[in-house]
Amino acid sequence: MYTTMAPMLAQAKQEGKGVPAFNIHALEVVPMMARTAAEKSCPVILQVSVSTAKYIGFHLLSTVVREVASSLDVPVALHLDHAAKLEDIGAAIDGGFSSVMYDGSLLPLSENIQRTQEAVKLARQAKVSIEAELGIVGRGKIIESYPYTDPDDAVKFVEETGVDALAVGIGTHHGQYKAKTNINLDVLKAIHEKVRDIPLVLHGGTGVRDEDVRTCVRLGMHKLNFGTELNVSWVRAAKEVFGAAEPDESLRELMIRCNGAMADTIRKKIDLVRFEGLGR
Ligand SMILES: [Zn+2]
Repeated sequence: MYTTMAPMLAQAKQEGKGVPAFNIHALEVVPMMARTAAEKSCPVILQVSVSTAKYIGFHLLSTVVREVASSLDVPVALHLDHAAKLEDIGAAIDGGFSSVMYDGSLLPLSENIQRTQEAVKLARQAKVSIEAELGIVGRGKIIESYPYTDPDDAVKFVEETGVDALAVGIGTHHGQYKAKTNINLDVLKAIHEKVRDIPLVLHGGTGVRDEDVRTCVRLGMHKLNFGTELNVSWVRAAKEVFGAAEPDESLRELMIRCNGAMADTIRKKIDLVRFEGLGR
C-alpha cells in the first residue's frame, strides 16, 4: 500500500529495526524495487533526487509507485531526497509524493531552522512526511573534516521545526563505494541520547560497514539510505549483459538481468536493516 513515511519509521523505531530507502534513477527499476521489498515483507521508501524527479516527471513517478504499491502488502512511500528549494518541495507535493526532505544543511543553523519550518508547514498542509538535515553529509571528494552534527543543535532543531525525521552528519559520504568510511559512532550516540523522539536518518549508507549500519539502527537511525551500491550493481551487470548482447536481442530480457543484479543488492540491504533482535 502507498503510505507516508512517518508511520513506517515510528513502527520501525518501536521494533528496533530500520526501513531501507532506495534511490531510483530510472522508472524501469521501480516495480522491481517495490516487489523485492514486498517479497521480503519489508516496508520500503523509494526516493529520488530533484533531478531524477524532473527527468521522470513528478506525477508520472508517483502514479507508477502508487499503482505498484496498491497490489502489495507492505507500506511503500515515495520520498523526494535533498530538496534545497521550497519550490521543489511544492512540486513533489503537487505531484503526489508522500514524503519530502528539505535540505538546508549548508545554511547557518538559524536560517536552516527557519527554512525548514516553512517546508514543514507545506508538508503538514498536504499531510505528507518531512525529513530535514543538520550537519553535513559529504559529497564528491572524501574529506575527513566535515562538521559533525552538534547534539545540542539537534535538540533545538527538532523542537523548533517539528520534522518527522532528521538526517545527521556523522562522517558518511554520498557516492562512496570503493572503500568504507570511519563513521563517528560517539557523535551518533550523543545525538541519540538527546534526540529520543524522532527517528534519525543515515545518508551515504553504501560507504558504511555492515556492522556499523547495525549499530546505527541501535542508535536511533531508522531510515537507512542506499543509492550508490544499487546503481553500481545495475551498471556492472549492464556492462556485462549489454557488452555480450547482439543488437537485436530483446531489450526487456537484457534489462531484467540488470534489474536482477540490483534486486540481489536490495535483498542484502533489507537483511541488514531488518536483522532480527536488532536494538534489543
Ligand atoms: Zn543523502
